[in-house]
Amino acid sequence: MTLALGCIADDYTGASDLANTLTRCGLRTVQTIGIPADDLKLPEVDAVVVSLKSRSIEPGLAVSRSRAAEKWIRSRGADHVLFKICSTFDSTDEGNIGPVMDALRADSGDAIVLVTPAFPETGRTVYQGNLFVGPLPLNESPLKDHPLNPMHDSNLVRVLARQSQTKVGLVDLAVIARGPDAVRAHLADLAAKGFGAAIADAVFARDLETIGVVALAHRISVGASGLGLGLARALVASGRVKDNATTTISNASVGGSAACLAGSCAQATLQQITRAEQTMPVLRLDPERIIAGAEEIRRALAWATDRLGKGPILIASSSTPDQVAALQARHGRDAAGHAIEQAMADLAEGLVQAGVRRLVVAGGETSGAVVDRLGIPGFLVGAEIAPGVPVLRAVGAAGGEMLLALKSGNFGGPDFFEDALHLMI
Ligand code: ADP
Repeated sequence: MTLALGCIADDYTGASDLANTLTRCGLRTVQTIGIPADDLKLPEVDAVVVSLKSRSIEPGLAVSRSRAAEKWIRSRGADHVLFKICSTFDSTDEGNIGPVMDALRADSGDAIVLVTPAFPETGRTVYQGNLFVGPLPLNESPLKDHPLNPMHDSNLVRVLARQSQTKVGLVDLAVIARGPDAVRAHLADLAAKGFGAAIADAVFARDLETIGVVALAHRISVGASGLGLGLARALVASGRVKDNATTTISNASVGGSAACLAGSCAQATLQQITRAEQTMPVLRLDPERIIAGAEEIRRALAWATDRLGKGPILIASSSTPDQVAALQARHGRDAAGHAIEQAMADLAEGLVQAGVRRLVVAGGETSGAVVDRLGIPGFLVGAEIAPGVPVLRAVGAAGGEMLLALKSGNFGGPDFFEDALHLMI
């Protein structure tokens, strides 16, 4: 297997979003959980997305894990590595986007790295270096209240510069609109002035195609699924990858029970939980009791076991920004988040033991904790439930056939849970 493209994703839902985009662009793609073990049988693919859980960990650890993933990807023949970050640039002043980018740039020998989280089809656009979420600048969007990495500055040149050792420049829309040659010339100019990274504006899909063509000639790029789209289209257009339409994925039904877990407190997820109450039993956990001990999860499992035979269920820890802030004030941000993630993983393990084979998880960190606990080594991408959220079929899982959907908190329409279960049979 010689890879045309290798990707390192900083969380699992972002990884499946990217794997989904690459698949839709015609690249045969597999998503692995961590660096694959040598004995994991991977199908013949054009692209691998190595999923890490490195968005909110200590920066040094994020760097060493990303470096190891890059080494594995290069050993499989990929010339270009995309470091996949969130399309809302989720990070703090400590990192981890800047430190990982700096390390991968040093390893690759690239003078300057193109960086863009833009993905216009999901409402993420970048203009004059400022990230917009739909019509709102990032710092006015719901991301300002994120439990782990509240985003208070929409100017990504500033945000990245605070995290990185290198100078950060801008390739603005006027340059992008003039095409790849203009972008190359501008990057060369920035590199000559000592800039090691540049935020690239992108408002339309064609801007991503321009960026993709230029980025492909580099060894490293940093971006969200939108940049994945640009790179994939450039690979197909150049003939380096034949448009394979879709990764071959079995459509055989997995059966078993179905359940949903929500650990995201994003506005979209809160709305989706409320909507799900119309169609399935929903249990809202008490976050304070989750932190107090295992009893709340035992109660939830008993509640679920009584109902699983009759149809899908949903269990949520999610609460509103005010309630999240109050809980964090009492227990600390990281301690509260970690305790709830582990509780959701306990719950997932118990649900699978109780016969669940179709599992929907809302929340990036939450999905990471769940997939790790279930010990699933990788996924193939199936049908698209909502933009950026595919049905995933586990490969090489000890527990046998299983379908999952891993949703970043903000993704999906109001009926997301119902929509997902409809496609997961
Ligand atoms: P998203 O995709 O929306 O960012 P994540 O799962 O990545 O969702 O992050 C949500 C974080 O909030 C996790 O660490 C989760 O454990 C934590 N969390 C979940 N429920 C609550 C709650 N009720 N109060 C505080 N934190 C919570």
